[in-house]
Amino acid sequence: MRKNIVAGNWKMNCDLSETKVLLEGLTQSLPASLKADVIVSPPYTSLYYAFENLKDTPIMVASQNINENDKGAFTGEISAKMLKSVGVNYAIVGHSERREIYKETDALLKTKLDQALQNEICPIFCIGEKLEAREEGKHFEVVKHQLEKATFHLTAEDFKKLVIAYEPVWAIGTGKTASPEQAQEIHQYIRDLIANKYNQSVADEVSILYGGSVKPANAKEIFGQADVDGGLIGGASLKATDFLAIVDAF
Ligand code: PEP
Repeated sequence: MRKNIVAGNWKMNCDLSETKVLLEGLTQSLPASLKADVIVSPPYTSLYYAFENLKDTPIMVASQNINENDKGAFTGEISAKMLKSVGVNYAIVGHSERREIYKETDALLKTKLDQALQNEICPIFCIGEKLEAREEGKHFEVVKHQLEKATFHLTAEDFKKLVIAYEPVWAIGTGKTASPEQAQEIHQYIRDLIANKYNQSVADEVSILYGGSVKPANAKEIFGQADVDGGLIGGASLKATDFLAIVDAF
Protein backbone atom coordinates (compact mmCIF):
# COMPACT_ATOMS: atom_id res chain seq x y z
CA MET A 1 0.00 0.00 0.00
CA ARG A 2 1.10 3.57 -0.52
CA LYS A 3 3.30 5.53 1.85
CA ASN A 4 2.56 8.61 3.91
CA ILE A 5 5.10 11.24 2.94
CA VAL A 6 5.90 14.70 4.26
CA ALA A 7 8.32 16.66 2.08
CA GLY A 8 9.71 20.09 2.89
CA ASN A 9 10.38 22.46 0.02
CA TRP A 10 12.86 25.01 1.31
CA LYS A 11 12.78 26.99 -1.95
CA MET A 12 15.55 29.64 -2.21
CA ASN A 13 16.10 29.77 1.54
CA CYS A 14 18.95 28.64 3.79
CA ASP A 15 22.62 29.21 3.10
CA LEU A 16 25.02 26.61 4.45
CA SER A 17 25.04 27.84 8.04
CA GLU A 18 21.24 28.15 8.10
CA THR A 19 21.01 24.66 6.62
CA LYS A 20 23.15 23.36 9.46
CA VAL A 21 20.89 24.94 12.09
CA LEU A 22 17.68 23.66 10.49
CA LEU A 23 19.00 20.13 10.02
CA GLU A 24 20.24 20.03 13.60
CA GLY A 25 16.80 21.12 14.75
CA LEU A 26 15.24 18.30 12.74
CA THR A 27 17.61 15.52 13.68
CA GLN A 28 17.77 16.40 17.37
CA SER A 29 14.00 16.23 17.80
CA LEU A 30 13.18 13.49 15.31
CA PRO A 31 10.85 10.98 17.00
CA ALA A 32 12.08 7.38 17.21
CA SER A 33 9.17 6.13 15.19
CA LEU A 34 7.91 8.18 12.27
CA LYS A 35 4.37 8.22 10.91
CA ALA A 36 5.55 9.20 7.44
CA ASP A 37 8.56 9.14 5.15
CA VAL A 38 10.32 12.46 5.61
CA ILE A 39 12.04 14.34 2.80
CA VAL A 40 13.78 17.69 2.82
CA SER A 41 14.54 19.72 -0.26
CA PRO A 42 17.27 22.28 0.41
CA PRO A 43 18.74 24.48 -2.32
CA TYR A 44 21.43 22.96 -4.56
CA THR A 45 24.26 24.47 -2.52
CA SER A 46 23.18 22.55 0.57
CA LEU A 47 22.28 19.19 -0.98
CA TYR A 48 25.56 17.43 -0.37
CA TYR A 49 25.85 18.78 3.15
CA ALA A 50 22.28 17.66 3.84
CA PHE A 51 22.89 14.17 2.49
CA GLU A 52 26.12 13.74 4.49
CA ASN A 53 24.43 14.86 7.69
CA LEU A 54 21.23 12.89 7.20
CA LYS A 55 22.55 9.61 5.86
CA ASP A 56 22.36 7.93 9.26
CA THR A 57 18.79 9.16 9.78
CA PRO A 58 15.56 8.21 7.99
CA ILE A 59 15.29 11.69 6.40
CA MET A 60 15.78 11.67 2.63
CA VAL A 61 16.96 14.44 0.37
CA ALA A 62 15.25 15.90 -2.70
CA SER A 63 16.30 18.51 -5.21
CA GLN A 64 13.86 21.28 -6.09
CA ASN A 65 14.39 20.89 -9.83
CA ILE A 66 16.21 18.73 -12.34
CA ASN A 67 17.54 19.38 -15.83
CA GLU A 68 16.06 17.47 -18.76
CA ASN A 69 19.41 16.76 -20.48
CA ASP A 70 22.08 14.17 -19.71
CA LYS A 71 25.02 16.60 -19.69
CA GLY A 72 26.76 19.20 -21.80
CA ALA A 73 26.62 22.89 -22.69
CA PHE A 74 23.83 24.02 -20.38
CA THR A 75 25.55 26.72 -18.33
CA GLY A 76 24.18 26.99 -14.82
CA GLU A 77 22.24 23.73 -14.90
CA ILE A 78 22.53 20.58 -12.78
CA SER A 79 22.00 17.11 -14.22
CA ALA A 80 20.17 14.16 -12.71
CA LYS A 81 23.42 12.19 -12.59
CA MET A 82 25.06 14.99 -10.57
CA LEU A 83 22.12 15.05 -8.18
CA LYS A 84 22.26 11.30 -7.75
CA SER A 85 25.99 11.54 -6.99
CA VAL A 86 25.31 13.77 -3.96
CA GLY A 87 22.66 11.49 -2.47
CA VAL A 88 19.47 12.84 -4.00
CA ASN A 89 16.68 10.25 -4.21
CA TYR A 90 13.73 12.53 -4.98
CA ALA A 91 13.29 15.60 -7.19
CA ILE A 92 10.47 18.11 -7.16
CA VAL A 93 9.35 18.52 -10.76
CA GLY A 94 6.86 21.06 -12.07
CA HIS A 95 6.43 23.21 -8.98
CA SER A 96 4.05 26.05 -9.86
CA GLU A 97 6.82 28.61 -9.29
CA ARG A 98 8.88 26.89 -11.99
CA ARG A 99 5.86 26.66 -14.29
CA GLU A 100 5.00 30.31 -13.73
CA ILE A 101 8.32 32.16 -13.30
CA TYR A 102 10.54 29.96 -15.47
CA LYS A 103 7.82 29.09 -17.99
CA GLU A 104 8.25 25.34 -17.68
CA THR A 105 5.76 23.65 -19.98
CA ASP A 106 4.07 20.27 -19.76
CA ALA A 107 6.28 19.07 -22.63
CA LEU A 108 9.44 20.10 -20.80
CA LEU A 109 8.25 18.54 -17.55
CA LYS A 110 7.64 15.28 -19.36
CA THR A 111 11.33 15.17 -20.34
CA LYS A 112 12.39 16.12 -16.80
CA LEU A 113 10.38 13.23 -15.41
CA ASP A 114 12.02 10.86 -17.89
CA GLN A 115 15.45 12.13 -16.95
CA ALA A 116 14.77 11.68 -13.23
CA LEU A 117 13.43 8.15 -13.66
CA GLN A 118 16.33 7.11 -15.91
CA ASN A 119 18.64 8.12 -13.07
CA GLU A 120 16.65 6.37 -10.37
CA ILE A 121 15.40 9.58 -8.83
CA CYS A 122 11.73 9.56 -7.81
CA PRO A 123 9.91 12.63 -9.02
CA ILE A 124 7.56 14.56 -6.77
CA PHE A 125 5.42 15.85 -9.60
CA CYS A 126 3.42 18.99 -8.83
CA ILE A 127 0.08 19.80 -10.40
CA GLY A 128 -2.59 22.31 -9.46
CA GLU A 129 -4.81 25.06 -10.75
CA LYS A 130 -4.64 28.84 -10.42
CA LEU A 131 -7.34 30.81 -8.63
CA GLU A 132 -9.09 31.80 -11.85
CA ALA A 133 -9.48 28.17 -12.93
CA ARG A 134 -10.83 27.21 -9.50
CA GLU A 135 -13.35 30.06 -9.62
CA GLU A 136 -14.47 28.98 -13.07
CA GLY A 137 -14.82 25.38 -11.90
CA LYS A 138 -12.05 24.25 -14.26
CA HIS A 139 -9.74 22.74 -11.63
CA PHE A 140 -10.51 19.14 -12.61
CA GLU A 141 -9.78 19.92 -16.26
CA VAL A 142 -6.47 21.63 -15.38
CA VAL A 143 -5.05 18.79 -13.28
CA LYS A 144 -6.21 16.21 -15.83
CA HIS A 145 -4.39 18.07 -18.59
CA GLN A 146 -1.20 18.49 -16.50
CA LEU A 147 -1.18 14.82 -15.56
CA GLU A 148 -1.95 13.51 -19.04
CA LYS A 149 0.58 15.67 -20.87
CA ALA A 150 3.55 15.00 -18.62
CA THR A 151 3.04 11.53 -17.16
CA PHE A 152 0.67 9.32 -19.13
CA HIS A 153 3.40 8.21 -21.55
CA LEU A 154 5.03 6.35 -18.64
CA THR A 155 4.73 2.61 -18.19
CA ALA A 156 2.76 1.47 -15.15
CA GLU A 157 6.04 0.35 -13.58
CA ASP A 158 7.52 3.85 -13.92
CA PHE A 159 4.31 5.64 -12.97
CA LYS A 160 4.36 3.83 -9.63
CA LYS A 161 7.68 5.53 -8.83
CA LEU A 162 6.06 8.98 -8.94
CA VAL A 163 4.77 10.93 -6.00
CA ILE A 164 2.05 13.36 -7.06
CA ALA A 165 1.70 16.67 -5.22
CA TYR A 166 -1.59 18.47 -5.72
CA GLU A 167 -0.88 22.12 -4.97
CA PRO A 168 -3.58 24.65 -5.78
CA VAL A 169 -1.59 27.73 -6.78
CA TRP A 170 -3.97 30.00 -4.86
CA ALA A 171 -3.04 28.22 -1.63
CA ILE A 172 0.76 28.34 -1.97
CA GLY A 173 2.36 30.79 0.44
CA THR A 174 -0.94 32.65 0.81
CA GLY A 175 -2.17 31.31 4.13
CA LYS A 176 -5.30 30.03 2.33
CA THR A 177 -5.69 26.27 2.34
CA ALA A 178 -8.04 24.07 0.39
CA SER A 179 -10.63 22.73 2.81
CA PRO A 180 -10.14 19.07 3.70
CA GLU A 181 -13.24 18.32 1.56
CA GLN A 182 -11.84 20.23 -1.43
CA ALA A 183 -8.53 18.39 -1.06
CA GLN A 184 -10.21 14.99 -0.81
CA GLU A 185 -12.47 15.67 -3.79
CA ILE A 186 -9.62 16.45 -6.15
CA HIS A 187 -7.21 13.84 -4.75
CA GLN A 188 -9.86 11.21 -5.34
CA TYR A 189 -10.35 12.56 -8.85
CA ILE A 190 -6.58 12.33 -9.50
CA ARG A 191 -6.52 8.76 -8.19
CA ASP A 192 -9.45 7.85 -10.44
CA LEU A 193 -7.64 9.32 -13.44
CA ILE A 194 -4.64 7.11 -12.66
CA ALA A 195 -6.87 4.05 -12.21
CA ASN A 196 -8.57 4.71 -15.55
CA LYS A 197 -5.28 5.14 -17.36
CA TYR A 198 -3.43 2.28 -15.66
CA ASN A 199 -5.38 0.23 -13.15
CA GLN A 200 -6.67 0.42 -9.59
CA SER A 201 -3.61 -1.21 -8.07
CA VAL A 202 -1.28 1.39 -9.63
CA ALA A 203 -3.61 4.15 -8.42
CA ASP A 204 -3.67 2.69 -4.93
CA GLU A 205 0.13 2.58 -4.75
CA VAL A 206 0.82 6.20 -5.68
CA SER A 207 1.10 8.69 -2.84
CA ILE A 208 -0.76 11.92 -3.54
CA LEU A 209 0.41 14.80 -1.36
CA TYR A 210 -1.42 18.04 -0.69
CA GLY A 211 0.52 21.32 -0.75
CA GLY A 212 -0.61 24.84 0.03
CA SER A 213 -0.22 26.57 3.40
CA VAL A 214 -0.12 23.35 5.43
CA LYS A 215 0.67 24.20 9.06
CA PRO A 216 0.72 22.22 12.32
CA ALA A 217 -2.78 23.57 13.01
CA ASN A 218 -4.42 22.24 9.83
CA ALA A 219 -2.27 19.23 8.89
CA LYS A 220 -4.17 16.58 10.83
CA GLU A 221 -7.51 17.38 9.26
CA ILE A 222 -6.08 17.46 5.74
CA PHE A 223 -3.99 14.29 6.18
CA GLY A 224 -7.05 12.58 7.65
CA GLN A 225 -8.71 12.49 4.22
CA ALA A 226 -8.76 9.08 2.57
CA ASP A 227 -6.86 10.09 -0.56
CA VAL A 228 -4.43 12.56 1.01
CA ASP A 229 -1.18 10.75 1.74
CA GLY A 230 0.78 13.61 3.24
CA GLY A 231 2.02 17.02 2.24
CA LEU A 232 4.50 19.12 0.34
CA ILE A 233 5.32 21.87 2.78
CA GLY A 234 6.83 25.25 1.92
CA GLY A 235 6.94 27.95 4.61
CA ALA A 236 6.35 25.63 7.55
CA SER A 237 9.27 23.41 6.55
CA LEU A 238 11.71 26.16 7.50
CA LYS A 239 11.01 25.81 11.20
CA ALA A 240 12.05 22.44 12.62
CA THR A 241 9.35 22.29 15.31
CA ASP A 242 6.57 23.13 12.83
CA PHE A 243 7.82 20.66 10.24
CA LEU A 244 8.11 17.87 12.80
CA ALA A 245 4.65 18.63 14.13
CA ILE A 246 3.33 18.22 10.57
CA VAL A 247 5.25 14.93 10.18
CA ASP A 248 3.49 13.76 13.32
CA ALA A 249 0.01 14.84 12.19
CA PHE A 250 -1.29 11.52 10.83
C1 PEP B 1 5.07 24.94 -1.81
O1 PEP B 1 5.73 25.87 -2.21
O2 PEP B 1 5.18 23.84 -2.34
C2 PEP B 1 4.12 25.18 -0.72
C3 PEP B 1 3.18 24.31 -0.51
O3 PEP B 1 4.32 26.33 0.02
P1 PEP B 1 3.52 26.77 1.35
O4 PEP B 1 3.45 25.57 2.24
O5 PEP B 1 4.35 27.87 1.92
O6 PEP B 1 2.18 27.23 0.89
